[in-house]
Amino acid sequence: MHDILPAEMPVWDQLEDGYRALVESYGYQQIRTPIVEKTALFARSIGTVTDIVEKEMYSFDDRNGDSLSLRPENTASVVRAGLQAGLLHDQQQRWWYSGPMFRHERPQKGRYRQFHQFGAEAFGIAGADIEAELILLASRFWKCLGLQQIELQINSLGSSESRSSYRDLLVDYFRDHADALDQDSQRRLESNPLRILDSKNPEMQGLIENAPALHDSLDQASRDHFHELTDILDQTGVSYRINQRLVRGLDYYSHTVFEWVTETLGAQGTVCAGGRYDGLIEQLGGKSGYAAGFSMGCERLVAMLIDQNRDQDSSGCDVYLAMRGEGSIAVAHRLGEKLRDQLPRLRLVVHAGAGSFKSQMRKADRSGAKIALILGDTEIENETVTVKYLREDKAQEECSQVEIAMRLKSLSANL
Ligand code: ATP
Ligand code: MG
Repeated sequence: MHDILPAEMPVWDQLEDGYRALVESYGYQQIRTPIVEKTALFARSIGTVTDIVEKEMYSFDDRNGDSLSLRPENTASVVRAGLQAGLLHDQQQRWWYSGPMFRHERPQKGRYRQFHQFGAEAFGIAGADIEAELILLASRFWKCLGLQQIELQINSLGSSESRSSYRDLLVDYFRDHADALDQDSQRRLESNPLRILDSKNPEMQGLIENAPALHDSLDQASRDHFHELTDILDQTGVSYRINQRLVRGLDYYSHTVFEWVTETLGAQGTVCAGGRYDGLIEQLGGKSGYAAGFSMGCERLVAMLIDQNRDQDSSGCDVYLAMRGEGSIAVAHRLGEKLRDQLPRLRLVVHAGAGSFKSQMRKADRSGAKIALILGDTEIENETVTVKYLREDKAQEECSQVEIAMRLKSLSANL
């Protein structure tokens, strides 16, 4: 589990503000659910034979002896909340969330035990138009963030009937190659053979490449659904690659699954993943319904943004107000308050903690500020302040205290 230090926060802010504005522009509403849920919720939804439930959950008994878990993802919680509030039956909902998730994985670059996801979930819509909308929304996010080099991969798992006939084919194929299966795959052969396709073990890749293709098992309705999706994507200019080996790590998907993958992050290259999961609502005790959504990994997006914005300013300060002489402290704070009234967006640090003028200027420099304002006896007497440019080769100048707000505004477009 990692700390997010102040220097990284501007990128997180950019991501969070950008995501909120984006989902709101598509008419999605925010939902927040608890970080802790009953363990049974995840066992029932994600599936007991998944990595997440088998070995990644932080589970514990509370004081009543109930088994609880830190949420490893948020879709199950959102469906539970929607069902509990009676908001999923016979109605459409478009919701979004953001927050921390917890999985006991081997920590490495792009993989943490507490990480953050943004997600969107849409309920009550049967057609592939909603999958297209979710894809358009996420694609717009990459565009807004200026992220390139993210490839969209899509696939169809088909209806549950298609899936089960494919499952039989797959079991036959892997049984014929049982000696080439690794331990995880042998275990999954009976319980969840589709997940073998999702194996990250390089030694399994050859076998997986030659497995029967899923699309040959799709029934007509499943093919039509997938075609409806690709048609909208084609007509809205979204590029994608059909990847028949794409199955999702979670059990509850049917029909469309999709992922955005980048090669810029090394091994942990999936930045967003989702699809249709109609079955989950019934699985969690509701009447059958329609559902589709995605979630994205914020840490991976932050890594891409930091890489891209290397030389952007990550300081927390525009102007540093320094003082010469004890008598100027109160006057400096008075001026500081006045500036904050006049320029609500100004990030102003008023020097605190005394110290020589030289050490104040060192702090001003380290703060990242572009400008230092200096208040000394002379300035107080003249009701002025000295403006010193910290990053430009420009002579310092004196400015009247009445005009300093206007002066700062003229120097920075952001104010
Ligand atoms: P992966 O194949 O990378 O393990 P997953 O299939 O387990 O991903 P999902 O459950 O679909 O991932 O979660 C959606 C997104 O959340 C992932 O695409 C990834 O960007 C991010 N994510 C998942 N697990 C982690 C983690 N442990 N640390 C950081 N980000 C993660
Ligand atoms: Mg995983």
